[in-house]
Amino acid sequence: MTEILIQNADTVLTMDDARRVLRGADVLIRGGVIAGVGQGLQTSGDVVSGRGCVVTPGLVNTHHHLYQNLTRAVPGGQDALLFGWLQTLYPIWSRFGPDEMFISAQLGLAELALSGCTLSSDHLYLYPNGSRLEDTIHAARDVGLRFHPTRGAMSIGESDGGLPPDSLVEDERAILDDMIRVVDAFHDPSEGSMCRVGLAPCSPFSVSRELMRDAALLARDKGVMLHTHLAENDEDIAYSEANFGCRPGQYAEELGWTGDDVWHAHCVKLDAQEIDLFARTRTGVAHCPCSNCRLGSGIAPVRAMRDAGVPVGLGVDGSASNDMASLSAEARQAMLLQRVANGADAMSAYEALEIATRGGADVLGRPDCGRLEPGKRADIAIWDTRGVASSGSWDAAALLLAGPTRVKHLFVEGRQIIRGGELTTLELPRLIERHGKLAHKLMEG
Ligand SMILES: [Zn+2]
Repeated sequence: MTEILIQNADTVLTMDDARRVLRGADVLIRGGVIAGVGQGLQTSGDVVSGRGCVVTPGLVNTHHHLYQNLTRAVPGGQDALLFGWLQTLYPIWSRFGPDEMFISAQLGLAELALSGCTLSSDHLYLYPNGSRLEDTIHAARDVGLRFHPTRGAMSIGESDGGLPPDSLVEDERAILDDMIRVVDAFHDPSEGSMCRVGLAPCSPFSVSRELMRDAALLARDKGVMLHTHLAENDEDIAYSEANFGCRPGQYAEELGWTGDDVWHAHCVKLDAQEIDLFARTRTGVAHCPCSNCRLGSGIAPVRAMRDAGVPVGLGVDGSASNDMASLSAEARQAMLLQRVANGADAMSAYEALEIATRGGADVLGRPDCGRLEPGKRADIAIWDTRGVASSGSWDAAALLLAGPTRVKHLFVEGRQIIRGGELTTLELPRLIERHGKLAHKLMEG
């Protein structure tokens, strides 16, 4: 089996159970797995120098809509609140097809990889013009990221009092049938899996109560995870109280949407009882600080969630509401936002990085990822701290205070997909050109 030794790194932030921080240390990769972490390790295989670098587990993205990077910074949506923003973008998205889904997923996953991400989920909830979930799965294989796509869905269109146009919603029976199809075809439950499929009705305001319940039953039957948007802003809470007669937490609980196989995006407006519910049931949260800032949704109570024991990971959210998708920048934003709400000692750079790595892996049900210790998957980010952003830092390992936002090297399942800051799996300039052309075509209408 091939071996790679990352040798003599200045610092290794293991995120293991003891949260060990090692100086002048090595990480040995054998096949797709970490074989050793410590000093003085040897190999007959390849050596990658860790000198001047900080080594961390690969970052984990727990919430995204990859397709949206074709509609970044759309003028009519730049300054709108959530619901108005959606109504600006729906008509544009209704013109997407398989090519748009495939190229946007390649571009989005490449962008994430450059920012240190090795494992990403995706929430694809509209399938216009013959688009299918596998358009994104094929893209992830090409880029080389570990991928957790979710089969999203919307079924309540404008004519039924919903937000999306009728052309973007699907029949609920067809949705469930396609959920079964993609799980059977693409979900790999094995340890070290590169692709796990989840089920993800878009939000409580775009599908029926029955579909929420049926998706939960199906997920339990198939042994896959559940994902949706929840309690994103004040409008979202008001909608829940007006239409369901309860808060989002109660709605989720009644329909089977709590448990360690469920994670909800945003949760900006969870109250104390809902935080307690999530902690008791080990229900996960995908915290998306940049998106929450961008849409003015508020500051998620992440400090209170973490203190209560709620599993929290980070998500960049769709590129149309961020509009960048840098996971390292997202981790810094998470740290800063908790400080705005709770004071300068509310979240350390180290804790934010733990949420971005181990935290996200746990939210996605991947305890085999997100930490550097023997037996875990070899998903590893190497950050060069000899550049301009770290210069003068007294603690180069405090990456989120002063450090690079792009990785030098990145390994996924032991395979090097970024070398010297460049993607090894795809020609990035060509990809950007193809992606730009598709975006221009959409602008022209
Ligand atoms: Zn989202």
